[in-house]
Amino acid sequence: MQRILDPARIEAFAATSVPRIRLPDPASLFARRGQRLRTLAEGHSLGDYLRLMAAVADGQQVALDALRAALVAEQFAQQLGRQIELAHEHRMPLLQAAGFPRQERWRAILTELCTSIAGAPGFPAGVRSVCERIIASPGAGIETQADLLIAARTSGVDAQAAPFVMAALQVYWAAMTSSLQMSDVTQIDVPGVCPTCGTLPVSSIVRSDKRSQGYRYLHCGLCATEWHLVRITCSQCLTTEGIVYHSIEGGSAAVRAESCGQCHTYRKILYQEKDPEVEPVADDLASLALDLLMTEEGLHRGSGNPLLWQNTET
Ligand SMILES: [Zn+2]
Ligand SMILES: [Zn+2]
Repeated sequence: MQRILDPARIEAFAATSVPRIRLPDPASLFARRGQRLRTLAEGHSLGDYLRLMAAVADGQQVALDALRAALVAEQFAQQLGRQIELAHEHRMPLLQAAGFPRQERWRAILTELCTSIAGAPGFPAGVRSVCERIIASPGAGIETQADLLIAARTSGVDAQAAPFVMAALQVYWAAMTSSLQMSDVTQIDVPGVCPTCGTLPVSSIVRSDKRSQGYRYLHCGLCATEWHLVRITCSQCLTTEGIVYHSIEGGSAAVRAESCGQCHTYRKILYQEKDPEVEPVADDLASLALDLLMTEEGLHRGSGNPLLWQNTET
C-alpha cells in the first residue's frame, strides 16, 4: 500500500508550514528599532522626537541583554512549567500583562533608561527634567502609571513620562517572552490580542523572509511577539468585509493603513518586500501623517503606539 505521507513529504510540509507565532529576537529587537528610528528621523518633521526614541531604544537593547542573561541564569523559562500547562488548558496568555506580578527590577530598568537619557547631550532641557522627575518619583506612583499604560487608559496617564515607562515595561516583557519556546505560546480564544501577554497589536507586518514570506503578523506593542492573521482581515473585529487600504500620496509604499468598514477602526500594515527595514513600532510612529489622514476620514486607531501617549484630560 502506498504511504500517503512519507518522511520526505512530511519534511517538505514542515519546511513550508508557516509559523503562527514569531517570538522576538533578543539580540536585535531594540537595536534594529533604534536604527530604524534614526533613519526615519532624517528630514522628518518629528525628527527630534524620533531621535529621542532611537536613544531610548539603544538603552532598551542594553537593558534587554542584561535582563536576558539574568533570566537564563535563573532558569526563568524552565520554572514556568505548571503556568505553561494552565495557559494552554485555559487558552490564556502565558504572561498576561494585566495583573502580572511585576518584579521591582523593571523599575530599575526605567531608572537606568532615564539616567542615560538625562545625561545624553543633544536633547532639550524638557526631556532631562521629565527623566529626572521619573527617577525621583516614588515606586508606587510609577507602578500606578504602569498599570494605566498596560490597560491602555488615557485618563490619568502622565503623557510625558509614558514613553519611558512603557519602554522599561517593553524590556521586561520582551526579556521574558524571548526566553520562551515557540511551543510555550498557545493559540488563545481572542485572536486580536497578543497570545503571550494579552496586549493589543501596535501594527501589522507582511514578512518577506523565507519561512514567513507573504504572511501577515500582528506585532505586540509590549512584548514584541508576532502572531499570524490572514491578510485582508480587520485586526480589530476580524471581519473580511469592507477592508480598505490607504496611503499618503508620495509617501512610502511600504506603509499603509488597513481600515474596516464595519468597526471603523484602522491599523497600519507594513510590507517588508517593499522595504526590508520596516519595523512595526518605528514605522508606525513615523507615519503620523497617515494617522491624520485617517482621522480626517472619520476612522479611529485600533490601539496606540507604545512610544506616544496623550492624556485625554489635557
Ligand atoms: Zn505581547
Ligand atoms: Zn473591524
